[in-house]
Amino acid sequence: MGHLRFNAIQALTNSEKDIQSYGGQKITAFFASNVFAGKVQREYLSDEAYKSLMNSIKSGSKIDRKMADQISSGMKAWAMDRGVTHFTHWFQPLTGATAEKHDSFFTIKSDGSALELFEGDALSQQEPDASSFPNGGIRATFEARGYTAWDPTSPAFIIEMAHGKTLCIPTIFISYSGESLDTKTPLLKAIDVLNKAALDVCHYFDKNITRVTPTLGWEQEYFVIEESLANARPDILATGRTLYGHTPAKGQQLEDHYFGAIPERVFAYMQDFEQEAYKLGIPLRTRHNEVAPSQFECAPIFEEVNIAVDHNSLLMDVMQRVAKRHKLKVLMHEKPFAGVNGSGKHNNWSLATDTGINLLAPGKTPRTNLMFLTFFVNVIKSVHDYADLLRASITSSSNDHRLGANEAPPAIISIFIGKYLTDVLNEVEERVTGKFTEQDEVILKMDIHKNIPELLMDNTDRNRTSPFAFTGNKFEFRAVGSSANCAWPMTILNTIMADTLMNFKKEVDALIEKGEKKEIAILHIIRKYITNSKKILFEGDNYSEAWAQEAEKRGLNNFKDTPRALDALATELTKKLFEDHKIFTHIELEARHEIQLEEYVKKVQIEARMMGYLASNAILPAALKYQNILIENAKGLKELGLSPESYRSQVEIIEVISKHINAISDQVEAMINERKIANEIPSMHERAVAYCDKVRPYFDTIRYHADKLELIVEDKLWTLPKYREMLFLR
Ligand code: ADP
Ligand code: MG
Repeated sequence: MGHLRFNAIQALTNSEKDIQSYGGQKITAFFASNVFAGKVQREYLSDEAYKSLMNSIKSGSKIDRKMADQISSGMKAWAMDRGVTHFTHWFQPLTGATAEKHDSFFTIKSDGSALELFEGDALSQQEPDASSFPNGGIRATFEARGYTAWDPTSPAFIIEMAHGKTLCIPTIFISYSGESLDTKTPLLKAIDVLNKAALDVCHYFDKNITRVTPTLGWEQEYFVIEESLANARPDILATGRTLYGHTPAKGQQLEDHYFGAIPERVFAYMQDFEQEAYKLGIPLRTRHNEVAPSQFECAPIFEEVNIAVDHNSLLMDVMQRVAKRHKLKVLMHEKPFAGVNGSGKHNNWSLATDTGINLLAPGKTPRTNLMFLTFFVNVIKSVHDYADLLRASITSSSNDHRLGANEAPPAIISIFIGKYLTDVLNEVEERVTGKFTEQDEVILKMDIHKNIPELLMDNTDRNRTSPFAFTGNKFEFRAVGSSANCAWPMTILNTIMADTLMNFKKEVDALIEKGEKKEIAILHIIRKYITNSKKILFEGDNYSEAWAQEAEKRGLNNFKDTPRALDALATELTKKLFEDHKIFTHIELEARHEIQLEEYVKKVQIEARMMGYLASNAILPAALKYQNILIENAKGLKELGLSPESYRSQVEIIEVISKHINAISDQVEAMINERKIANEIPSMHERAVAYCDKVRPYFDTIRYHADKLELIVEDKLWTLPKYREMLFLR
């Protein structure tokens, strides 16, 4: 045939599979071997430099110039001992990808002598051109210059490629005038604000706590398909998903005889990327098959949120790179295949103290349980008060396909807490009356601590349909998309939690000042929060239509698409929240809103173009060729003098093909017109809405006709690899 699709299938069928793995090696033998942390820091740094670095990590204290020089030279020595020649600041701009700009250690001095140099300045700061990264108009108002600045709390690491090694320094990325241009800067601010707010509340219960850190354990879902087949799908290459493709009936694929080979090939790939991840200190622990064919998941042990976020971004890069080595393609898109489950990235989130307490784990005594209940109810209140913002934190054109598609949590934000905790909250609400009574003392000692431990025992008490579920000692934010950078939802979650905790503290203090006993005051504010926010709690099936109706009655919002979901970034409530906690100025917030709208427009625009391109370059030509074969056949039969009845089916199919061809042509043209109109709209918000409401709906109708043609047209004329091939061939 000579076509990519058939060559790919041919090659697959013949090829010897190239299996690599880390075999019998113990993971501890190479874990974190490419990370500048722990033992090697001690080894390569002077006492003074080591202490200064540790201090900065613990308390955020500044590292002075002299110390930075010492640390950089230690880092350089460590890196060069491992064959590193270049270094880069590694950051996460608002493109959704990671960014690097490599410089070599190699320098030539004014006297012409050459040497390897890496000074404190180069470690602390670099100046990449900010104008080529999204900035949402900030650049127009300010300056094009941008700065990356070292984040000492996330350790430096070495990226190994076949042809060289690079020392990577995690950094933030800000504009010349200090506006954040990345995902890390606001996250670090949020972590700081949360620490302060949570500490104040912790001190009601335990004065020994000196630091509270959010923890994150993400679960990354992804698809793996054959690279050669992906290469024959321009839609996958350009958009990360299939814009066309008829779904094969379930069961049919399971009989595919290639099926048995899938795990081995993918297993080798997994081992290979895991090995790289381990060297980078990413503590992966689980790997397994997911619901859809060719879909998998991996998850690490949880870490401090800043590090967990960096590790997830890093792993996503590693996974893409290693896949190439295995001639596989990894798809991180939320919905690469229609009619097959999409991919998410559950964010398991909790709060840990420096004294080793998980603040969202129920305690063993009434006192620690009151602390648990305090933080638990404050989470509920946060999500209740800022549900729209939380919804906005996970929105993207790709996640729009997943949320509410009856396979993933709906776009309606609600919380699942399970039966025991529902009972506990009800009890608090009923028994703590509006007035302060003697009874309050009794309630304090109530059965919370008897009930709650059972919760941990009962793993069946889980609701897989909830977007935000309590799972015994943490909340699981399930609506996050597989391609997302976790920093944004984590920034928002931690900020709203900080805000709620600060108000909580004010309210409790006010009661204490009136002479109320501390525990009783806490209980009363908890009760008030339960009453005020219980409409966000939902224990039933989140996928059901009944819930959508019920949610509407409760006044919970259901933003089904990105342009509308993003409106939450422009409300007074949100502006005040970010301003109060000095996370974003109004300008920064507006810039983020603009960037996200623009990204939405661009993504849908690319999809629309690819839709049109494939229609006219792949789908219609195949349909026309097949139609011509039928025409020739019918003509021949007629020439032989046979009755029309003998070529009736051919004529019918010819007509059906024409109908689909016309529908596709007409609708592609109409879509292009709508796109042109949309492009003329000056307001980015209105343009995004136009792309959403006017352009995007054509995708489904065009696809409908194309997918029908796929079923009709002779297989060997169809050039786009089919679902059954992508999902089942290895
Ligand atoms: P599952 O939800 O699959 O039953 P686990 O309860 O063990 O499995 O945890 C799922 C994920 O939650 C893991 O990635 C783990 O790292 C993470 N996790 C566990 N405890 C915490 C915590 N305290 N904070 C953040 N993430 C956590
Ligand atoms: Mg889970």
